[in-house]
Amino acid sequence: MFEKLKKAISTLTSAATQKTLSEDEVVKSLEDFELALLESDVAEEVVSALTTRVKQEVIGLKLSRSIPTQEYLKEKLLKIIREEFFKAKPIDLIQRINEKKAKGEPYVIVFLGINGTGKTTTIAKFAYLLKEKGFSVILACADTHRAGAIEQLTTHAERLALKVIAQRYGADPAAVARDAVIYAKKHRVDVVLVDTAGRMQTSRNLMDEMEKIIRVVNPDLKIFIGDALAGNDAVSQAKEFQRFTNFDGVVLTKVDADVKGGAALSIVYVTSRPILYLGIGQSYDSLKPFDPDEFVRSLLNAEGASER
Ligand code: GDP
Repeated sequence: MFEKLKKAISTLTSAATQKTLSEDEVVKSLEDFELALLESDVAEEVVSALTTRVKQEVIGLKLSRSIPTQEYLKEKLLKIIREEFFKAKPIDLIQRINEKKAKGEPYVIVFLGINGTGKTTTIAKFAYLLKEKGFSVILACADTHRAGAIEQLTTHAERLALKVIAQRYGADPAAVARDAVIYAKKHRVDVVLVDTAGRMQTSRNLMDEMEKIIRVVNPDLKIFIGDALAGNDAVSQAKEFQRFTNFDGVVLTKVDADVKGGAALSIVYVTSRPILYLGIGQSYDSLKPFDPDEFVRSLLNAEGASER
């Protein structure tokens, strides 16, 4: 994964060769860079913001002859990207669950995102991961709109031997989530994973419903599910969900099918929220912790960049 993005970085670093970086030269170099990043599925607004910052930092710079220009530009660019990833503070999920467990209380996670992004599958993966870590888990079906939502979650629960809290279609989703939390408290369940709706008549209705669920259950963690294949759409969805739900972190799904890496950069850039895990397949164990260091290092080692 991320090969295209690495190539995009290489393109920029090979562009300028002189010691004083003129505006013309930088702008021209950045054109290639912009194109390459767009090809990597980084959202347009993020490409524009990144290149503006690079321009501000490098135009007019006089570099010592001992500093290779290409390397210098590469470091500038990667510094900006690295700052974005580290602005988003990582979340140690297991530690947080343990802290809540020590108080005898369930840890409640609400999953948010548009239908089809992989929300339900990700909930099943979380359940699998947390069971493996020795936690007891229940699922709550707070999507009472989409036909099949309850059955889909129930199928995962049966495979994973978990209890599902659900009501009929049309029931109040916040009430389902609240029931699940009450059940977890009563039966000393460690973690409650709440599935939510991903599409309603209007986006405003959806956001109102998410706000209500959050108000009623006061979750410990709100996770936005972003689809790595959705490009600019994933970014606009992330922005809207963040505005209404102020989510804490992101799981980026379908990264196995996305070799470009642009969505990871875009979502972190526009929301300043950390990516917790990457979905890398359809099986329950296909959830990989996201490592920003590894991501940025892979950019530093961009193929061909150091040879030019
Ligand atoms: P929801 O509507 O957001 O709940 O989405 P689903 O969980 O039903 O997932 C939609 C489709 O995406 C299903 O076919 C999943 O198997 C698939 N999917 C989910 N996560 C991943 C992933 O990380 N990689 C791949 N390749 N497919 C995934």
